Amino acid sequence: MPEQNQVTAQQILDALTVIIDPDLGRDIVSLGFVKEIKICGGQVGFDIELTTPACPVKDRFKKQAEEAVLAIDGVTSVNVSMTSQVRGREQVAPEELLPGVKNVIAVASGKGGVGKSTVSVNLAVALAQTGAKVGLLDADIYGPSIPMMMGTSGKPQLNSENKIIPIERFGVQIMSLGFLLPDDQAVVWRGPLVAGAVKQLLTDVDWGELDYLVVDLPPGTGDAPLTLAQTAPLTGIVIVMTPQDVALSIASKSVAMFRKLEEGLKRPMPILGIVENMAGFVCSNCGQYHEVFVGAGGAAAAERLDVPFLGAIPLDPGISASGDAGVPAIVAAPDSPQSLSFHEIAGRLAQQLSITQMPKG
Ligand code: ADP
Repeated sequence: MPEQNQVTAQQILDALTVIIDPDLGRDIVSLGFVKEIKICGGQVGFDIELTTPACPVKDRFKKQAEEAVLAIDGVTSVNVSMTSQVRGREQVAPEELLPGVKNVIAVASGKGGVGKSTVSVNLAVALAQTGAKVGLLDADIYGPSIPMMMGTSGKPQLNSENKIIPIERFGVQIMSLGFLLPDDQAVVWRGPLVAGAVKQLLTDVDWGELDYLVVDLPPGTGDAPLTLAQTAPLTGIVIVMTPQDVALSIASKSVAMFRKLEEGLKRPMPILGIVENMAGFVCSNCGQYHEVFVGAGGAAAAERLDVPFLGAIPLDPGISASGDAGVPAIVAAPDSPQSLSFHEIAGRLAQQLSITQMPKG
């Protein structure tokens, strides 16, 4: 029997049930997030293990947990450690592609020039900045632009098993067809060639252990993005669009293509959400946000298409300038409105993945 006023682990767990994960709709105790409870007199310590280090409600959970446990009679101090264990594809067979990669996220767009590569690069760096292990595969065979945007021009080395070692930049492991092609060589790839080249990028590269591999797909709804999405073991899709795409229903075509593909594949490949790029601009004089295409919002489009809305990124000349200079906007101007948007979108994306991977019931 515990002495009077001796704090018990059960009391701590009971107190923590008031904290509900807004995305998963359950309390953090029944979700199994509370770990390593240590009690020494009135001093209490425990871990809250989240499903991603990019969790947007991390700070709120910590504060709520401290308050809830401090309110227990006999508790004098609380030490909460926020940790994370990214969940991923279940039971990856050894022969399957990318066995060490927990999540493969493809970034797609209905047409070229909407900022798909810019979003891929900045989301990859944003996820890496949370402490996650992140890779970035430039599979945009028509115009591999990731090496330029990430400021990498070297040729990757081979390891002792003759596998290509990705190039690390800004904490992200990068691989691009652009590394393997002679400079300025235009390539016309057809379906079988695309599948072969992509398989090679997935199998012949030493990706190691990754929480997230972001794949920059070729644009459009044609043969190349389709073959690629079929070849790579994708865990989810992000669709980048501009307000114009909403008006012209280009984004809907993209959504329809991936939904059809998922049906055919007979394995889950959820659309994790829509990112609206070049949505408006923040005036450098007055600091106010102005929409460019009034009435054509990404949020409304996402609702209509029944997919999550991950967020909007303003139009900003700094984004293209930093991309051209080989330093992603999120590194070049970390406190800018667009960088804050990228961080928020990365958090929502990671949450969406966690939601889709939570066992049902
Ligand atoms: P995609 O991969 O869809 O073809 P890119 O990411 O290459 O598009 O972007 C096309 C051009 O638009 C690039 O010059 C890029 O720097 C620029 N760009 C992308 N997003 C923005 C933005 N939010 N504000 C300003 N320029 C942008």
